[in-house]
Amino acid sequence: MSTNSSSRELPKQYNHAAAQDRWYPFWEKNGYFHSEPDSSKTPYTIVIPPPNVTGALHLGHALNNTLQDVLIRQKRMQGFETLWMPGTDHAGIATQAVVEKRILAEEGVSRHDLGREGLVERIWDWKKEYEARILGQLKQMGCSCDWERTRFTLDPVCAKAVRHTFFSLFKEQLIYRGKRLVNWDTMLQTAVSDDEVNHETVDGNFWYFKYPVIDPKPGEPTHVTIATTRPETMLGDTAVAVHPNPAGALDGAEADLNSRIEAAPEKQKPELQQQLEELQERRRTLLPTLVTLRDMAVDGRKLMLPLVNREIPLVADEWAKPEMGTGCVKITPAHDPNDYEVGLRRDLPMVNILNLDGTLNEEAGPYVGKTVPEARERVVADLEKQDLLVEVEERQIELAHSDRSKAPIEPLLTDQWFVKMDNLAQTAMDAVSDKRVKITPARYTKGYLDWLSEKRDWPISRQLWWGHQIPIWYSKTAGEDDLKKAFEGRDDVVWYRDEKYGQWLICAQEEDLAEDAVEGHELVREEDVLDTWFSSALWPHSTMGWPEKTAELDFYYPGNTLITSRDIITLWVARMVLAGLHNVGEIPFSDVYIHPKILDGFGEGMSKSKGNGVDPLDVIEKFGADALRFSLAYLTTETQDVRMPVEFECPHCNELIAQTKKNRILPRVKCKKCGEEFSTQWADKPEDKELPRGAVVSDRFELGRNFCNKLWNAARFALMNLEGFTPEVVADDELRVEDRWILSRLSTVTGQVTDALAEFKYADAARALYDFAWDEFCSFFVEMVKDRLQDEAARPLAQRVLAHTLDTLLRLLHPFIPFVTEEVWQLLAEVAPKRGLTKIEPAAESIIVAAWPQSDSAREDSRIEDQFTIFQEVLRAVREIRSRQNVPPKQQIEFSLRCDAATAELIEPMQSYFASMAAAKLVAAGADVEAPELSANVTMTGMEVFVDLAGLIDVAAEIQRMEQQKAKLEGFITGKQKKLENENFVKRAPAEVVQKEKDSLTELQEQLAATEAVLKRLMESK
Ligand SMILES: [Zn+2]
Repeated sequence: MSTNSSSRELPKQYNHAAAQDRWYPFWEKNGYFHSEPDSSKTPYTIVIPPPNVTGALHLGHALNNTLQDVLIRQKRMQGFETLWMPGTDHAGIATQAVVEKRILAEEGVSRHDLGREGLVERIWDWKKEYEARILGQLKQMGCSCDWERTRFTLDPVCAKAVRHTFFSLFKEQLIYRGKRLVNWDTMLQTAVSDDEVNHETVDGNFWYFKYPVIDPKPGEPTHVTIATTRPETMLGDTAVAVHPNPAGALDGAEADLNSRIEAAPEKQKPELQQQLEELQERRRTLLPTLVTLRDMAVDGRKLMLPLVNREIPLVADEWAKPEMGTGCVKITPAHDPNDYEVGLRRDLPMVNILNLDGTLNEEAGPYVGKTVPEARERVVADLEKQDLLVEVEERQIELAHSDRSKAPIEPLLTDQWFVKMDNLAQTAMDAVSDKRVKITPARYTKGYLDWLSEKRDWPISRQLWWGHQIPIWYSKTAGEDDLKKAFEGRDDVVWYRDEKYGQWLICAQEEDLAEDAVEGHELVREEDVLDTWFSSALWPHSTMGWPEKTAELDFYYPGNTLITSRDIITLWVARMVLAGLHNVGEIPFSDVYIHPKILDGFGEGMSKSKGNGVDPLDVIEKFGADALRFSLAYLTTETQDVRMPVEFECPHCNELIAQTKKNRILPRVKCKKCGEEFSTQWADKPEDKELPRGAVVSDRFELGRNFCNKLWNAARFALMNLEGFTPEVVADDELRVEDRWILSRLSTVTGQVTDALAEFKYADAARALYDFAWDEFCSFFVEMVKDRLQDEAARPLAQRVLAHTLDTLLRLLHPFIPFVTEEVWQLLAEVAPKRGLTKIEPAAESIIVAAWPQSDSAREDSRIEDQFTIFQEVLRAVREIRSRQNVPPKQQIEFSLRCDAATAELIEPMQSYFASMAAAKLVAAGADVEAPELSANVTMTGMEVFVDLAGLIDVAAEIQRMEQQKAKLEGFITGKQKKLENENFVKRAPAEVVQKEKDSLTELQEQLAATEAVLKRLMESK
């Protein structure tokens, strides 16, 4: 470099932290993330799947948000008026559970001590802290959300949308109150959904009881025996069931077992055979009794439920399995989901024996007030006293625990609010069936449609304090005339009679009703809140200000793309579609992209409760946000989940310590190498937090970091060599062959990346860019122009092509790696503020608003691309031989190429590049090229390179090397031949796989022949 250069020294390593600190505030300050409705432009809208304010984000969120940011940045560059709407979700149960648990643990205070308002206030404090943390994490990742529009599912705008939606559904009589069996968390005292329940296998018992038959006829059994794992629930039994066709059911079970025996491997057969014998034994001993019991059930016979002395029917129902237990089953509809279904089918009473705190209520007779374990013990003892306990069997049982509170789950029949799904579900099905909403990958469409087609009513109430309180007021005493009088002339209040409970249900659209809103009658507000999904379902339009007819709603709705994970297709995607159609009359988005999940080293999804979540900030600190983003996008294929084994990095000695299921939940971990302790993301206590933090890292991110460094180094070289750059339009005939090649490749890759992103093929886009930037631009083109940049006459053109190529490459990469591309973009603007090949234009002030590149088919030249592919292969071969033979770098060598005529024609014009890039001279190319007397070779498909070694090498060493290669090839060939001789393989493998093996064998045989020829020549020359 010239000494009078004013260009500043650029650091050899890309400093990701400095770039992040510099450019994120720059983008924010200049308002690039902010969008305003602009009718002269086409909108492109993404709404963020709002993260729960329960805790911090993990790598799964990092993936989800990276993909959204890649898309929104690309669309921004493509000239759309882009809006990425950010926000967070109040996550009712999850957040309340976390805060309640913490307050109880730290202060010994329960929610009842605090009261509704007090607890909600404490949760708001938590929300503020975690929302800030979450939004901070998103910013560190580089997410270009419109922060000025940040929403929260409980803020006034969203709350208004919730009230209006509830009101209109209620008015249309699509909302009703009914009984439902729920998973009851007795600690939090709320219903939890199925996916918030953990099932664990534990040691338990099977208790066998017998219930007396009332007035048995001669020959009939006097008792019916049942078995249960939860004896206390017998107090709520309302029937005992027997199968309506016990013989038929046993036939079915036997046929099923026979076919399993047939299909089973030999090893498992004896065990299944044993089961078959047991079944046959049952047929002999138990079937006659079951048939009698069935007849008794049909005849309407009753049993006496012991302890509470209630008459209950014997019923015939298929839920009773003759092949299991005693063949009879007690039915407790209010405390078991399967029994609940039987209760509905057989129209049985549903007796609830539990209070909401898990103690027994007055229905339990003498056991009232007892806890479940106390009642269990007493019930068993009392039955034993009455000689009704038959036996107790030890057995492994499944125990359900609440994921949130870890308390046992009690199935409980409770009053809940529901939305009728029939028509609403149909609208959401139609939207996907007729492709107004397109789900990618298409295989997820089926699950969406299947789930909706069940048209199960949507339970929307939760017994919580944190959330949207249901806008219903009850009046037991008012008459309809009182209500008419109180709300005369108002269209924002509606009421219906709830006959079952003898009361009025009054719903108000916006305003809360006062206790005395109806003169002389007290109104009581419903205490329950709405399930979180009720408000998140409105997210695409509530965030735009619906029900107001805002400019935002008009411009940005319907949005374009929702990017989310497969877990919430039914919980969320389906409900957003039906809510959008119901409220706004239009679908919320036209595309749904379902991305893969990030799994830990054990193949488990990352979650806060498992403790295996990785904090993206750990990765960003060590590798940089760009490395995190690029690696994640690179791994996002359509078919595979992403396995991400992680390690702790000891902050004392940098040793990597594998994360295990045991240490991943610990607040502190001891380093196995230096013996020092460090804290983890779970550190909570001051003494743990004091320890230095051991980051959680994965080598998966090295790919992204190395890529960013490679790009940085190539850019650094370019920037240092753009001194004196002058922009000028370049005529096609001025271009050198390598210019035409790189411009052709650039156009091809631009097309590939644009197409891939249009189909959400992130990995394809990232890989095309990786290969082009690394192999073609950095490793090849930059090297090819080195000489020209030193040559006064050739320099200006080389600079123009180099600047243009770098400029375009940066733009293509920007959505993936925004920080490093902005850093280079700004540096490039210092040396080349105006640039372009066909048109000279000033560079955009920030790459974030630079135009997305267009592919230009006029630049694409497949002949040149082929020529360079061959050139690269031959050059690599020549270099390989040089290094293999230890030829000094400056030493000139000669080589020849055996190839067909077409290849020879392509390679001959590349003479000068072999000279400059490998100090090599091509002396002959063609089909009749003969190996020189003493030469080294590399064989490629359809080509063979010979470097003339006369006077250059150690012949004996070369002979030894060729002999080794020969042995290796022979080994491979034998392996392939064996495989192809294997009939199993040839018959079973797909035809193209077999063909591939055959082709590969032929190629190996060609290589062996070539090696033998070289060896022969070497021996002769000795
Ligand atoms: Zn250590």
